[in-house]
Amino acid sequence: MKKQGTLVVVSGFAGTGKGTVMKELLSRYDSYALSISATTRNPRPGEVDGREYFFKTKEEFEEMIEKDEFVEFACYVGNYYGTPKKYVQEQLAEGKDVILEIEIQGALNIKSQFPDALLLFIAPPSADVLKQRLVGRGTETEEVIEQRLARAVEESKGIENYDYLVVNDELDECVENVHQMIQSAGWKMSRRAADVEDLRTQISAFAKGE
Ligand code: ADP
Ligand code: 5GP
Repeated sequence: MKKQGTLVVVSGFAGTGKGTVMKELLSRYDSYALSISATTRNPRPGEVDGREYFFKTKEEFEEMIEKDEFVEFACYVGNYYGTPKKYVQEQLAEGKDVILEIEIQGALNIKSQFPDALLLFIAPPSADVLKQRLVGRGTETEEVIEQRLARAVEESKGIENYDYLVVNDELDECVENVHQMIQSAGWKMSRRAADVEDLRTQISAFAKGE
């Protein structure tokens, strides 16, 4: 019996450490595929087209919408963000666990299209720690940090829609918790009906002495 690839959504407030946790997860295990989104926002210093995002103009993005090239897309603080369909389909077909690091509207859209998807919300151990991490990362101004914390208040209203809460306190423990949750999801009974039926047939044939 082979484990089946799971579609995994990971969300969390800016500065929680999602990127750090995902990078570590991917470096430890080769069964994961991280989807790269398309966006109309400008690249930040150090970001590379095709690595962090596929950077698109509004026109290019809208053409992709028209051609039905996204699994989901959302408008977030004045920019489009979307998950390209092709990569997700290809990687799932290969049995990989495909990770989408997306915000809440996209997460809920995925859950309604793919009820078997696993939704993880990565949380900081406390608001103080979140602020320390955002400040410590040093990529945003004080003003942007305040805006992001204000946005966190809005995003926090939808956390109950996720399947699991994962606290990113000690990095190593968080990475292993995420790994265990994703691995377990692949063995959920509701997803293994064909295997169970197969096993049942084999056992009854065995019992009959065939
Ligand atoms: P996100 O992708 O959620 O916006 P990042 O991965 O960029 O967050 O992490 C924000 C900051 O917090 C970074 O400076 C990162 O090194 C730090 N960080 C991430 N996880 C931990 C952790 N478990 N313990 C301490 N610092 C962490
Ligand atoms: P940022 O601009 O900080 O890179 O991302 C802003 C928000 O957009 C983050 O919450 C991120 O998870 C989310 N995001 C990134 N890609 C996608 C996507 O393809 N779809 C959706 N719905 N959200 C995305």
